[in-house]
Amino acid sequence: MRIPVLVDILEANNLIAQEIRERLEKEGILSLNLMASPGAGKTSLIERTVEALGEEIRIGVIEGDLATSLDAERIAKYGVPVVQLNTGTICHLEARMIKSAFESLPQIDLLFIENVGNLICPTGFDLGEDAKVVIVSLPEGDDKPFKYPSIFRESKAVVINKIDLQPYLKAQVGTLREAALSINLALDVFEISCETREGLSGWYDWVRAQFAAKGEGKTVG
Ligand code: MG
Ligand code: ZN
Repeated sequence: MRIPVLVDILEANNLIAQEIRERLEKEGILSLNLMASPGAGKTSLIERTVEALGEEIRIGVIEGDLATSLDAERIAKYGVPVVQLNTGTICHLEARMIKSAFESLPQIDLLFIENVGNLICPTGFDLGEDAKVVIVSLPEGDDKPFKYPSIFRESKAVVINKIDLQPYLKAQVGTLREAALSINLALDVFEISCETREGLSGWYDWVRAQFAAKGEGKTVG
């Protein structure tokens, strides 16, 4: 017996993702799909990055949330173009949503897609992005990579946020890093705090390098 529903949804998604990818390619836009649990610091990381790189790279943001435009309002304060997607009951972003949001953005160099806060199904939906980035905050525990391996397997980089809270937590930054690398040895790992701004310069350099590589038509490992 054939049960085609899920396969068809994913196939349809992949076709649209391919269209997005071709368009981003043609326009030389780097796109990063940020994924994390709710409250890990996706929006904060975008805020810090816009602050640091907004003068040198034209950044645009697509914000995904079930409800509200609170995160888009935070980003808009930095003067960068932002579109809020409200997904209602859908707990991840799909390519069709990105396609329509992308239409309303002006010419940019770098597109941040902030996925819905969820470590599970955002991994399964190709958005046409150049790379997926998983953000995990230290208070969530240093065993997250073992519990949600696919998101770490699919990502190019992991950003460990809230390391300034280390003195108050049992979870260890080093343990979290090792756990992530044990799932995916190719991950670029950043240990940062969006609050104190420690460790962020390495992240900014990584974003710059991805953008430069996009211009040269290759990806940086
Ligand atoms: Mg957010
Ligand atoms: Zn979902």
